[in-house]
Amino acid sequence: MKINSLFQRDRAVFSFEVFPPKKDSPIESVYDKLEEICALKPDFISVTYGAGGTGGHSRTVDIASKIKHDFHVESVAHLTCVNSTKAMIDETLADFTANGIENILALRGDYVDGVEPQKDFRYASELCAYIREKGDFDISGACYPETHVDAADEVEDVLNLKKKVDAGAQHLISQLFFDNALFYRFLERAKIAGIRVPIEAGIMPVTNKRQIERMVSLCGASLPPKFAKMMQRYESKPEALRDAGIAYAVEQIVDLLANGVDGIHLYTMNNPYVAEKITRAVENLL
Ligand code: FAD
Repeated sequence: MKINSLFQRDRAVFSFEVFPPKKDSPIESVYDKLEEICALKPDFISVTYGAGGTGGHSRTVDIASKIKHDFHVESVAHLTCVNSTKAMIDETLADFTANGIENILALRGDYVDGVEPQKDFRYASELCAYIREKGDFDISGACYPETHVDAADEVEDVLNLKKKVDAGAQHLISQLFFDNALFYRFLERAKIAGIRVPIEAGIMPVTNKRQIERMVSLCGASLPPKFAKMMQRYESKPEALRDAGIAYAVEQIVDLLANGVDGIHLYTMNNPYVAEKITRAVENLL
């Protein structure tokens, strides 16, 4: 099923993100957790593509295929391009087709220290256009409520986002954020720029301190005082921090749904406990 159809219904889309295990762990090591996560029946689950895009696509394909065919939840495979040639992308698209994967989140990917990027693709919009030309896939793109780090300013970033939509991105999934007001301002900018596709809000329940430090250094999300206070108060009490992180994410989601967002994309961090708590708290509100 193409996920485009999910956005035509009269309710918000509720989706998850998971990641494949590291190369030195067997792929089966995540199957139990994935099965529990899939049992929550989100509308779809997206599967990340190894950071930097240099590690090959097979684990993303295997997990996306497992989710769809064995656990019966629609899947979306992430695909990055900046470290790939057209021939490499062709091979990946052929594998997607062979495994019945119809939905792709098309990304530029990040530059990796010491790795010379390939020259075939500079931006995700070029990958969107290429995929559209190559096959019958549903294409999503990424967006940044707090502006992408490489963009000169928020206007330039949203105009580039419009190019990505024009090139074939049929819906967008946002980077995680902790301050809903920033997301609403971004939606206004997107509207002014003429972006009319559905935009899902990316929500990351922060359940341990290491996770937040890593995430913020990677994506630069700003931390509202209320959130920082919570982290500070509970940082040495793992269970309290986990519960506070879940409560914070639920509060964000309730506000987003009340404001009529198109969808919620939950960064599950492969944690079934957290995914279940949040799903049960919001499933009647979608
Ligand atoms: P683009 O849309 O190409 O934008 C990148 C930058 O280029 C922006 O600053 C933009 O303003 C600018 N730009 C775009 N088009 C133009 C143009 N035509 N001219 C000039 N400037 C332009 N990374 C992974 O490695 N694996 C993953 O699985 C993964 N999943 C992700 C999922 C989500 C929901 C998000 C939000 C990010 C994900 N990332 C992933 C991270 C992503 O690869 C990085 O954020 C990357 O730096 C940008 O990717 P993009 O597709 O948004 O790039």
